[in-house]
Amino acid sequence: MSLLIIRLLVFVLVFWAGWRLWQYWQGFQNQRVEEQQGKDGHESMVKCEECGLHLPSSEAIQSGKLHFCCSEHRDAYNTPPRDDKDN
Ligand SMILES: [Zn+2]
Repeated sequence: MSLLIIRLLVFVLVFWAGWRLWQYWQGFQNQRVEEQQGKDGHESMVKCEECGLHLPSSEAIQSGKLHFCCSEHRDAYNTPPRDDKDN
Protein backbone atom coordinates (compact mmCIF):
# COMPACT_ATOMS: atom_id res chain seq x y z
CA MET A 1 0.00 0.00 0.00
CA SER A 2 2.51 2.58 1.19
CA LEU A 3 4.95 1.48 -1.53
CA LEU A 4 2.47 2.68 -4.14
CA ILE A 5 2.25 6.08 -2.45
CA ILE A 6 6.06 6.34 -2.30
CA ARG A 7 6.35 5.46 -5.99
CA LEU A 8 3.69 8.04 -6.78
CA LEU A 9 5.54 10.65 -4.72
CA VAL A 10 8.83 9.85 -6.44
CA PHE A 11 7.15 10.10 -9.82
CA VAL A 12 5.67 13.50 -8.95
CA LEU A 13 8.99 14.68 -7.56
CA VAL A 14 10.89 13.63 -10.69
CA PHE A 15 8.27 15.23 -12.91
CA TRP A 16 8.40 18.45 -10.87
CA ALA A 17 12.22 18.50 -10.90
CA GLY A 18 12.26 17.99 -14.66
CA TRP A 19 9.76 20.79 -15.14
CA ARG A 20 11.81 23.16 -12.96
CA LEU A 21 14.98 22.15 -14.80
CA TRP A 22 13.27 22.89 -18.10
CA GLN A 23 12.22 26.33 -16.89
CA TYR A 24 15.71 27.01 -15.59
CA TRP A 25 17.22 25.93 -18.90
CA GLN A 26 14.89 28.20 -20.86
CA GLY A 27 15.81 31.15 -18.66
CA PHE A 28 19.50 30.31 -18.98
CA GLN A 29 19.27 30.23 -22.77
CA ASN A 30 17.43 33.55 -22.91
CA GLN A 31 20.07 35.10 -20.66
CA ARG A 32 22.85 33.82 -22.91
CA VAL A 33 21.20 35.30 -26.00
CA GLU A 34 20.84 38.65 -24.25
CA GLU A 35 24.45 38.60 -23.12
CA GLN A 36 25.68 37.79 -26.63
CA GLN A 37 23.61 40.60 -28.11
CA GLY A 38 24.71 43.06 -25.46
CA LYS A 39 28.36 42.34 -24.70
CA ASP A 40 29.69 40.31 -27.61
CA GLY A 41 27.63 42.07 -30.28
CA HIS A 42 30.26 44.10 -32.09
CA GLU A 43 27.76 45.20 -34.73
CA SER A 44 27.10 48.49 -32.97
CA MET A 45 30.50 49.97 -32.16
CA VAL A 46 30.45 53.73 -32.48
CA LYS A 47 33.10 56.43 -32.42
CA CYS A 48 33.14 59.50 -30.23
CA GLU A 49 33.01 62.52 -32.54
CA GLU A 50 35.11 64.57 -30.15
CA CYS A 51 38.04 62.30 -29.19
CA GLY A 52 37.65 59.37 -31.61
CA LEU A 53 37.25 56.73 -28.89
CA HIS A 54 35.44 53.58 -29.98
CA LEU A 55 32.79 52.23 -27.65
CA PRO A 56 29.60 50.14 -27.85
CA SER A 57 26.52 52.15 -28.77
CA SER A 58 24.77 51.06 -25.56
CA GLU A 59 27.41 52.93 -23.55
CA ALA A 60 27.66 55.87 -25.91
CA ILE A 61 25.76 59.11 -25.58
CA GLN A 62 23.76 59.75 -28.71
CA SER A 63 23.05 63.16 -30.11
CA GLY A 64 21.11 62.87 -33.33
CA LYS A 65 23.26 60.81 -35.71
CA LEU A 66 26.42 61.44 -33.69
CA HIS A 67 27.82 59.48 -30.77
CA PHE A 68 29.99 60.56 -27.85
CA CYS A 69 31.87 58.78 -25.08
CA CYS A 70 30.57 61.14 -22.41
CA SER A 71 28.25 64.11 -21.98
CA GLU A 72 31.24 66.47 -21.63
CA HIS A 73 32.43 65.59 -25.14
CA ARG A 74 28.92 65.95 -26.50
CA ASP A 75 28.69 69.44 -25.05
CA ALA A 76 32.23 70.28 -26.19
CA TYR A 77 31.38 69.18 -29.72
CA ASN A 78 28.04 70.97 -29.87
CA THR A 79 28.90 74.22 -28.15
CA PRO A 80 32.01 75.81 -29.83
CA PRO A 81 31.39 75.49 -33.60
CA ARG A 82 28.05 77.18 -33.94
CA ASP A 83 28.53 78.48 -37.48
CA ASP A 84 29.22 75.21 -39.39
CA LYS A 85 26.01 73.32 -38.82
CA ASP A 86 26.22 71.26 -42.02
CA ASN A 87 29.26 69.12 -41.38
ZN1 LIG B 1 35.12 61.40 -26.34
